Amino acid sequence: MQFSLDQNNRKIRPSFSGQRAICPLCNGQVIGKCGEIYVWHWQHYQDRNCDPWKEHETDWHRRWKAKFPQEWQEVVIEIYDKKHIADVKTAKGVVIEFQNSPISTATIREREEFYEKMIWVINADTFKDNFKTRSTVTSKLREEENEYLLELRTLDTEYKDELESYDKQIKNIESASISKSNELSRLKEKMETLEENCLNKTDFSQKVINTLSTEYYFADTVNVIRQKLDNSLKQQLKEIQNQITEADREIKAAEQTMLSVLNMEPITIEGKEFRLIPYKDIPKLAYQKARAILKESRKTFFLQCVDFKSESDFLNYDYKESHYDFAIDPTDKIDRLKEKQDTGKNKLLSLNEILSELKEQLSYQILQELEFIISELEFDIQELMKVLNNLTAQAGALKRNKAKFMIRMEKELTASKAEIVLKHKNSRSQIMTVNKGYYSAGWKYRRNSWNVALMPIFYDIGEDYLWYQTGKHKFKKVPIANFMSKYGHIFISG
Ligand SMILES: [Zn+2]
Repeated sequence: MQFSLDQNNRKIRPSFSGQRAICPLCNGQVIGKCGEIYVWHWQHYQDRNCDPWKEHETDWHRRWKAKFPQEWQEVVIEIYDKKHIADVKTAKGVVIEFQNSPISTATIREREEFYEKMIWVINADTFKDNFKTRSTVTSKLREEENEYLLELRTLDTEYKDELESYDKQIKNIESASISKSNELSRLKEKMETLEENCLNKTDFSQKVINTLSTEYYFADTVNVIRQKLDNSLKQQLKEIQNQITEADREIKAAEQTMLSVLNMEPITIEGKEFRLIPYKDIPKLAYQKARAILKESRKTFFLQCVDFKSESDFLNYDYKESHYDFAIDPTDKIDRLKEKQDTGKNKLLSLNEILSELKEQLSYQILQELEFIISELEFDIQELMKVLNNLTAQAGALKRNKAKFMIRMEKELTASKAEIVLKHKNSRSQIMTVNKGYYSAGWKYRRNSWNVALMPIFYDIGEDYLWYQTGKHKFKKVPIANFMSKYGHIFISG
């Protein structure tokens, strides 16, 4: 107690230790305590506490009370038969209770009901470390910052998406252009080959005709032309070529036979030139032209020759080869062979005439087809060049649009970003104004008893501010100066 009553019922502070006065609550005797360390105060005789609500008074209590006008301190409040000393009662009738040690929920309710208009100031110095706070401004600013970054990112993403879609379209067109121009160079190469063919048309058509007698596959142009040629011409060509081969073969065979006849050993019989021949080689129908010559007589001047009377006579000589040599008159045979060769050669001449006529017809068709293929290819090349030009134009237009888009977007982006920056700047300053001093907080170990308090609670943690509890987990930092100007507004310091 800072104050007691003197004999004239005036509120006085002790002025020396041992001074006597009367307790305003119980009218008991109190004694002045005026030490050097603690604030001077009154104490009941034998340190008895007459108000059960009052805990042992500490310096913390005394320092707080001393902040208020003297008349407001230790005010006795009497309601019906109940009497208590309020630590402070302001001019507006608000009781301020300074609570140092834990009290029961029942006591809290009882006091709040008794005083009706009151606030609590709790000494939280001993459990302030048990109290975790987070600035509402900080957490809201963090949320705000995230939102701000998200908006900027979204803006950039939209821009990038559109740019990417341009790039994708341009890339598609460019790769189409590349494949078309590859196709074009292939066609141009083909055209060059075809034009070379045109430079020497005879060689080309001859080359195609030469392939007609085989079934092999040839390079595309040749093959295409081969298939388009008149089938009966192709058939005729094949037949003529076969006939020519056959005629050739016959001529060669006649020549061969002629050669073998001329190679036979000559022998003069009856003034005529005969040729020696093995018996088995004599055609039996030609027995009249054949002679048998006694071997022994060949060494003499007089040849002993036998001519055959009949076919059976000729056949009788089959086993007489040890005694006879045989000869035949080749004149008829040679004449026949000569005739055969002449006929063959004539036939060959006329076949070759037909062949060259056929080749001429085929050659005409081949060159017509070649020209047709070239004109088709020219058309394809023209078309492809149109497509390529078109693609180039499209790519150019897209690139120009992209450039325009980038310029426009650069402006829009700058404007939009400036807008966002401004919006968030305002938002941040609003957050800082509205939430200034507010904190969300929680107890590591809850002081459950204070949950029942309905009246405002201020926690004193020994700083120059108080924590004002505004919700279950919400606190506001209230500077002690602000607290004093609200509750002690008529107090003029020192
Ligand atoms: Zn008393």
